[in-house]
Amino acid sequence: MLSVSNITKYYKDTLAVSNLSFEVNDGCIFGLLGENGAGKTTTFRIIMGLLDANSGTVTLNGEKIDYKVTDKIGFVTEERSLLTKMTVKEQLTFYGILKGMSNEKLEEKITYWLKRFKISEYENRKIKELSKGNQQKVQFISAILNDPVLLILDEPFTGLDPINVKMFKDVIMEMKNTGCSIIFSSHQMEHIEQFCEKLVILVKGKVVLEGNLKDIKKKYQKQNIFIQGEFDKEKVKKIKGVIDIKENANQYIVKIENDDCLDEVFNIVSKGKNITKFVVEEASLNEIFIDKVGICYEK
Ligand code: ATP
Repeated sequence: MLSVSNITKYYKDTLAVSNLSFEVNDGCIFGLLGENGAGKTTTFRIIMGLLDANSGTVTLNGEKIDYKVTDKIGFVTEERSLLTKMTVKEQLTFYGILKGMSNEKLEEKITYWLKRFKISEYENRKIKELSKGNQQKVQFISAILNDPVLLILDEPFTGLDPINVKMFKDVIMEMKNTGCSIIFSSHQMEHIEQFCEKLVILVKGKVVLEGNLKDIKKKYQKQNIFIQGEFDKEKVKKIKGVIDIKENANQYIVKIENDDCLDEVFNIVSKGKNITKFVVEEASLNEIFIDKVGICYEK
């Protein structure tokens, strides 16, 4: 289990992370969210032991993170860090040796992962000759080569096509199921919704929202009603609790404060014409994120 307790980091006068705490259990995927400059990279660097916090502690399975423990952490950084003049095999061997893997184990793992990611044919090609997506696969393989107990993924899907995103996701889920703790950061909320049981949203280094994704959504209360067909929009707009109505592609989206006004909306819509859809959904994480981050900026 990863335990981050009350970490605070200043760069001179800039407060980058303020009193941040969270835990990631074995076999859990945790979302660390925030807009640009919120403090995510700083947090990752502190966890990796690459940067000292001004205060607070980070432990992995009860141990402070030092060079013995960092061997067991895999990190996919947002700014890719491959040595592009090396061949794929040289690069992976280099990382594997740094992480203390035996030659035999390395050989076995490199062969397995190159095949799994369908890039065996590039084994002896220089990294710089690979496409961006394939470079990303090499970066990802370097992070998981020695079966880390903690995996930090900062925007791991940038630049990947949907088939490769699926391939990465399958591997991430496998790692989770073998007990790896995973921290996941992305600006693409649909990935977070799909993956993360728990999350934290940071604004200027401070936590503005945290907890279990299901609870966050329940607590947020705002919902969307997706409607296809014609109904009296002016009447619906006047109902107390209706925030707004948007027209989107071939449907209307009615945003409501909570389900108190649902019956009244249904009543009016049911008197409409050609109604083929009336679906109520919780707000998306993207809406919650925009709402929470926006609110903080208004203060
Ligand atoms: P992004 O999503 O853009 O990668 P982030 O959430 O990772 O952003 P950080 O890079 O951790 O954010 O930055 C947090 C704050 O600390 C920002 O105000 C940033 O300008 C500042 N900062 C980061 N690195 C340094 C540094 N080396 N020196 C001074 N200030 C820094």
